[in-house]
Amino acid sequence: MTTRVVRDVPKRLFIGGSWQDAESGRTLSVDNPATGEELCQVADASPADGRRAVEAAVAAQAAWAATPPRVRSEILRRAYDIIIARTEDLALLMTLEMGKPLTEARAEVAYAAEFFRWFSEEAVRIDGGMMTAPDGRNRLLVTRQPVGPCLLITPWNFPLAMGTRKIGPAIAAGCTMVLKPAPQTPLSSLALAEILTEAGLPAGVLNVVPTTDAAGVVEPLLRGGQIRKLSFTGSTQVGRILLAQCAGTVIRTSMELGGNAPLIVFDDADLDTAVEGTMVAKMRNMGESCCAANRIYVHTSVADEFASRLAARMAALTVGPGTEPGTDVGPLIDNAGRSKAHDLVRDAVKRGAIVLTGGELPGGPGCFYPPTVLTGVTPDAAISDTEVFGPVAALLTFETEDEAIAAANDTEFGLAAYLFTQNLDRALRVSERLESGMIGVNTGLVSNPAAPFGGVKQSGLGREGGRVGIDEFLEYKYLAVPVA
Ligand code: ADP
Repeated sequence: MTTRVVRDVPKRLFIGGSWQDAESGRTLSVDNPATGEELCQVADASPADGRRAVEAAVAAQAAWAATPPRVRSEILRRAYDIIIARTEDLALLMTLEMGKPLTEARAEVAYAAEFFRWFSEEAVRIDGGMMTAPDGRNRLLVTRQPVGPCLLITPWNFPLAMGTRKIGPAIAAGCTMVLKPAPQTPLSSLALAEILTEAGLPAGVLNVVPTTDAAGVVEPLLRGGQIRKLSFTGSTQVGRILLAQCAGTVIRTSMELGGNAPLIVFDDADLDTAVEGTMVAKMRNMGESCCAANRIYVHTSVADEFASRLAARMAALTVGPGTEPGTDVGPLIDNAGRSKAHDLVRDAVKRGAIVLTGGELPGGPGCFYPPTVLTGVTPDAAISDTEVFGPVAALLTFETEDEAIAAANDTEFGLAAYLFTQNLDRALRVSERLESGMIGVNTGLVSNPAAPFGGVKQSGLGREGGRVGIDEFLEYKYLAVPVA
């Protein structure tokens, strides 16, 4: 039986304001990770479709850049209102294609919509400046313009929010775009294109091309000389490839890449807060988040108490299809994701870790994995150096603040970090030394549309959201005007 929300969502490519089949006629299958069954087929773009999408974005660019900021702003605001009004449908669609529990899907709808509201407010505040040059001979006028047609590539873990976080500032700045969503979760992006059209977005400003041939479609677009900006969220491995491709035509980039977030529980932490925060940092989205706590360092004096409380909370979670009321933990995205989590658990156990709860592969359909807590994880275990992307909490211990900071920073990644302490001085001191773009202080949630999201080291380049989010889609232009 096809659910209404799946039946109603557009399933074709969105190019130049019209819904189109792929030139090849090919389609891709969108599956429900809770059952392994197919939800529907969606047009599967070829490189030729990608080129047509870019042509449409290029053709729409000049008129869109000239559209008054207030008009761009109000399109975003209307889209925000529509998304909020359709929360239930969008949440169900996301749960079906991605697996997260409905409660989390609703939260993502609100989070995703907020990027449109935030950037609708930013669209009308793009400003410049004017000054006299130090030698007094010139007036220097500084203005800002849209960077031009953008390519947006999004992952499957937050199918709606990763789209709005890029589309929102691009619309606000006056850029046109081609969105290539993850092939596992194209439905949310197609629904978004329909909503933006309803909100008044002109044809060609947003084009959407789901494809199973990401490499084949994307590379010629980055090398073609028409795309001026790439905004990518995904793995560091793919990010490196794309950066190399962008180098060829010197394309501006915003890269939100992988993480390996440390979470540090000091001996002076409030343990209730620390356990609660760890549950959020670890279990939001079944652990399938680049901000997910990956390595949990607990001071030896509180390690046993913390571990048993965390294990009790994890063991009490209900695992099941995201559509079932009462489900806390949905399936992982696919069998590869589940095998990766399980292999990391087995490797850690082989090296001496102890399983407090979980750790067993369940039988039956769907890509489910139980919430798992490991203690006594050794630094040589692969899990202390690999993004799990699953509901597995790996606990390590430390004695001194310096030791915890050194361990936390011992990674090529630097996206999010978390620390729990009641000592304000320590919180600030440690935050200053942690090599990461975002730090949760006594909280397990850092994502916020009003804050600059992004990482340092190999976790990425640039920031999304906040006051700076729109800057990524704008270029400065300066005019030298001699003083007569
Ligand atoms: P994940 O492991 O989360 O799927 P990926 O980095 O593989 O992360 O995928 C993130 C996004 O990048 C997806 O939309 C995917 O289709 C796309 N992608 C993967 N490989 C390439 C590639 N070689 N070129 C362009 N896009 C790619």
